[in-house]
Amino acid sequence: LNARAAEPYVRLYDHAADPHRPERLSLMGDLKIAIEQDALELAYQPKLEPQTGRVVGAEALVRWTHPRRGFVPPDSFIPLAEETGAIRHLTRWGLRRALRQSAAWAAAGHDLRMSVNLSVRDLGDAALPDRIDALLAETGLTADRLMLEITESAIMGEPEAAIAMLRRLADRGVELSIDDFGVGQSSFAYLRRLPVREIKIDRSFVKALDETAQDQAIVRSIIELGHNLGYKVTAEGVENAGSLNLLAEMGCDLAQGYYIARPLMPGAFADFLASHAAGEIPWQATLREA
Ligand code: C2E
Ligand code: MG
Ligand code: MG
Ligand code: MG
Repeated sequence: LNARAAEPYVRLYDHAADPHRPERLSLMGDLKIAIEQDALELAYQPKLEPQTGRVVGAEALVRWTHPRRGFVPPDSFIPLAEETGAIRHLTRWGLRRALRQSAAWAAAGHDLRMSVNLSVRDLGDAALPDRIDALLAETGLTADRLMLEITESAIMGEPEAAIAMLRRLADRGVELSIDDFGVGQSSFAYLRRLPVREIKIDRSFVKALDETAQDQAIVRSIIELGHNLGYKVTAEGVENAGSLNLLAEMGCDLAQGYYIARPLMPGAFADFLASHAAGEIPWQATLREA
């Protein structure tokens, strides 16, 4: 185990050592087919300004309904796709689908920034920036409409290489976000060197924010740290009115979570935007009272 842990983090999937090999290989084979056949979906979770109640963006989250297994959650196939390298195909598929959706929203008059998750393996994909340029040109979107989310751990595995890739992306005007902030390995020395726009507080600090003094202290501190470094701060995993109101009070820039909206398929997302514009969403009343 120790010997394996010491290998480079991008080591190839170790077929021989894996007791679940046949099952995992067949799942990855099926994923490859699903990508080729455009059979995956993206759900979109709104991002909201707690002070104003405005919806300003959405995060794209992949959804896979396997023909025999049914729904397969991302947490169970993304790590496997990272090990096998299939993640690069998934990322390219996801970027194209998300940017097309974003262009469709723009055409309907909705100016929303689209967030897409990147994995550690994507940071080693030297062709990714050109790919993104091509997709932006194809969809007619400006680079600042796209935000890429990367976890701290993905960056800290090989920080110098990661920073070089993040700079290439940031130079194009693409916005960058550090996802799941607070639970990964992080380093203040690297944090100040990252060309990021946003840090995203991990949902473990947010889900019981309204009733946990320690979480309030942590979240308040992360917001202050982020602001002092010039970053916007988003809280993920907002599950109730009390937490949303606290985030508004603390000056958190953006919030995301089941209390605002679950990740939604495109039709449901359009319905959400319509009810939001019409002021028909219960939490809007809560926000106005605050
Ligand atoms: P993430 O990027 O941190 O995404 C947030 C996860 O939290 C999503 O889970 C979302 O559905 C969930 N969530 C949102 N609001 C709440 C809430 O109020 N309470 C709770 N308990 N959960 C909430 P999901 O969609 O299952 O995705 C899990 C992870 O899988 C994501 O974490 C991300 O790391 C990864 N992932 C999802 N889609 C993609 C993708 O297209 N590409 C890559 N590379 N990774 C993805
Ligand atoms: Mg994310
Ligand atoms: Mg996250
Ligand atoms: Mg996460």
